[in-house]
Amino acid sequence: MTVLAPPSTPTPSVASPTPTGPAVAAEVPALLPTVGASESVPLVGGRRARFVHLDTAASAPALTRVANHVSDVLPFYASVHRGAGYLSQLCTGLYEQARVTVGRAVGARADDVVVFTRNTTDALNLLSAAVPGEVVVLDVEHHANLLPWRSPSPGHGVRVVPSGSTLGETEAALAAELARRPAALLAVTGASNVTGEVPDLPRLVRLAHAHGARIAVDAAQLLPHRGFDLAGLGADYVAFSGHKLYAPFGAGALVGRRDWLDEAEPHLAGGGAVRQVTTTGTEWASSPERHEGGTPAVLGALALAEALRTLEATGPGRIRAHEASLHRRLVDGLRLRGIEPLRIWPDAADVVGVVSFTVPGFRSALVASYLSAEHGIGVRDGRFCAHPLLARLGVDDGAVRASLGVANSSADVDRLLGALDLLVAEGPRWTYTADGCRPLPDDRELPAWAAVTGLQALGTASTPCAPSNTPAAGADR
Ligand code: PMP
Repeated sequence: MTVLAPPSTPTPSVASPTPTGPAVAAEVPALLPTVGASESVPLVGGRRARFVHLDTAASAPALTRVANHVSDVLPFYASVHRGAGYLSQLCTGLYEQARVTVGRAVGARADDVVVFTRNTTDALNLLSAAVPGEVVVLDVEHHANLLPWRSPSPGHGVRVVPSGSTLGETEAALAAELARRPAALLAVTGASNVTGEVPDLPRLVRLAHAHGARIAVDAAQLLPHRGFDLAGLGADYVAFSGHKLYAPFGAGALVGRRDWLDEAEPHLAGGGAVRQVTTTGTEWASSPERHEGGTPAVLGALALAEALRTLEATGPGRIRAHEASLHRRLVDGLRLRGIEPLRIWPDAADVVGVVSFTVPGFRSALVASYLSAEHGIGVRDGRFCAHPLLARLGVDDGAVRASLGVANSSADVDRLLGALDLLVAEGPRWTYTADGCRPLPDDRELPAWAAVTGLQALGTASTPCAPSNTPAAGADR
């Protein structure tokens, strides 16, 4: 996919809003304010457009309330747990209060533990070292819920069950595998990062427990859209990331049963994780300190707690209704254009605002570059760190993913649909690299403040572009 038109014929304007059918005409504003929501970005050819952020499934913009909370705390920032100064005492209190808030927000039981981690990947890696036996997963999982469980130790490791073509078939396959040989843990996604589909979690909890296994839910995608109730659901563990919850300040969490965590080797051996150290021996602390060696991401934990407080105060019903109307508008708009979103389980009744698709005749890498370079729309393309799933869906060459959140409006969805119309009708106006990954030339300027960082152009850092399953490209997209 190389030269499609010379750069000297730039698109005259950003895609105009496209009618999306009479049933979805009502305007839907953003639900919550986020930092940078009205920011414009440069397009190729010297124009600018308001940035349309349709990539919250990868990482969400900070809620304004979260950013304000962090800047309120910053003047008072100091070390936690071991400082005697006023600021250390204050920050320790805030950090431990954030633990309480996070636990309460996800329905932790009184004896559950909240361990602050870097993100979901970190949380599941921590749990993987604590599981006293084998783990069963589906082949639809994000790599974060697949790779940590692989283990060379006998009696440990992962058994990957191929998903069925319906939720019912999938549950039957999991039941058969758990009945065939006991497992310690069933680890499932709360919502697919590729299709947004939500499995029937109450049924999976019952299924795991009926076979003597515990269940861990990877709620990286579910929690921002639906909330989570560990005790209400009866699940044993939940893992999630602050940066997908509008709190991109470096913290996530693992919440769940204490016993395995207290018996496990410390996740990060070091200061703060111990009760007593001699030159030859260590008496480790119990959880959560046991797994939080070193100085934690205090602001990340506070941001995560503030995000959960804000989403709770907004109300799960309002969040769900806002997202459902944008999701419907997007899916209906794509279908009107002959584009069918990817699905794993057509019978899944609940789907969060994550929509992946391919545009016939255009490589997904090119579609994503075009949306960015010519329209200022941020989506993700590739295989979404879910290579086995993309292979089973028959899109080994990658897809485009548009994801929705509280900061999106119907205008965002319409911008995407309008840009796709222009692409299909006229092709890109700019030229792109042969792999479709970058505009060529890329004349988009950097923000003035970025000069101090030494960065000189977009895409020159270590961000290899691998549009498909080319091992040489080396990027896990
Ligand atoms: N699980 C799912 C379902 C995800 O979507 C992601 C992130 N894309 C992860 C796990 C990993 O999250 P993180 O990168 O924050 O560790």
